Amino acid sequence: MSENKVENLIILGGGPAGYTAALYASRANLEPLVIEGFQWGGQLQNTTDVENYPGYPEGIMGPEMMNEFRTQAEKFGTRFLTDDATRVELSEGGVQRVIVGDDEYAAKAIILAMGAEPRRLGIPGEMELAGRGVSTCGVCDGAFFKGEKVAVIGGGDSAMEDSIFISKYASELDVVHRRDEFRASKIMLDRAAEQPNISFKTPYVPEEFVAGEDGKVRAVRLRNADTGAESELEVGGAFVAIGHIPRSELVAGQVATDDEGYVLTDAGSTRTDKDGVFAVGDLVDRTYRQAVTAAGTGCMGALDAEWYLRDTPPSPEAHWRPGGEPVEVAPELAH
Ligand code: NAP
Repeated sequence: MSENKVENLIILGGGPAGYTAALYASRANLEPLVIEGFQWGGQLQNTTDVENYPGYPEGIMGPEMMNEFRTQAEKFGTRFLTDDATRVELSEGGVQRVIVGDDEYAAKAIILAMGAEPRRLGIPGEMELAGRGVSTCGVCDGAFFKGEKVAVIGGGDSAMEDSIFISKYASELDVVHRRDEFRASKIMLDRAAEQPNISFKTPYVPEEFVAGEDGKVRAVRLRNADTGAESELEVGGAFVAIGHIPRSELVAGQVATDDEGYVLTDAGSTRTDKDGVFAVGDLVDRTYRQAVTAAGTGCMGALDAEWYLRDTPPSPEAHWRPGGEPVEVAPELAH
């Protein structure tokens, strides 16, 4: 076990939300420790051009942008641990603990910024053919399917956005959706429908990704949801775009979440239902999920944590809210 030092602030997660929280917290002299994960950078690490982050009129590559976020936070004293947390022990207003392998890290406050990951279908071939024609990131991999016949699975805005992007490369593209109604917004649906090479295939449930002799995806086996009839859709590539899952498994049962696992925060703030525990970015956000909105809530998390540490020294008994009375400092946290 590592030495029993109690940090001011641990930030768990190294995407735009975590790094922005780190930038603000380090400029507030909190000397935050970011446990950024082995594959730091979050979902932007798997993205090519980012054209919708203000301040980059020419666009910037996702990984490069994350590196810049990280460098900027480091400049003001942020420390990084490039490893995955194995366990988190949250306390009500006391010491927050993160265990990484054999080492334990403790802090007076913690910002949860673990993000979200693509939802998977859970059907045969999905994992086996990942990177062999089956992808969850249209923006990352669309360009590899120039002139190919492609399927995009899903009926939400993500599926439409991916389809519109991939249709610039694919020869033909089928949007495969399990219902006749779409969850996508009308404008996105219309934009997809306007593309001459995009067709809609409903109501079909994907059952399996089938490999060809070359070991890459050859077809998607589909079941008609109305008739039960089975068929194969021949494709050179298939994209799964059925939403995201918040990465809240490490804190499950320790902070309030909604039924999908998104961490719940007080309206207009990053406070969770545990004092000293803040949550930001895609871990919280089921709606916007943009780099710029994640960064914005990262900033809010750092300010909330700063105010919490300044106004109310944490104690196991503390029940902190803005304007709340200061409480006694727990001996283990006393300076
Ligand atoms: P979503 O709105 O939850 O849509 C997920 C889609 O995947 C639904 O059509 C759902 O089908 C389908 N699906 C889920 N599990 C499935 C399964 N096991 N098998 C087959 N299909 C399955 O997720 P999203 O598209 O990622 O969008 C999330 C949020 O981000 C939304 O608020 C969206 O508006 C927003 N967003 C906006 C934009 C934009 O405006 N540019 C772009 C992307 C995302 P059912 O409908 O049958 O449940």
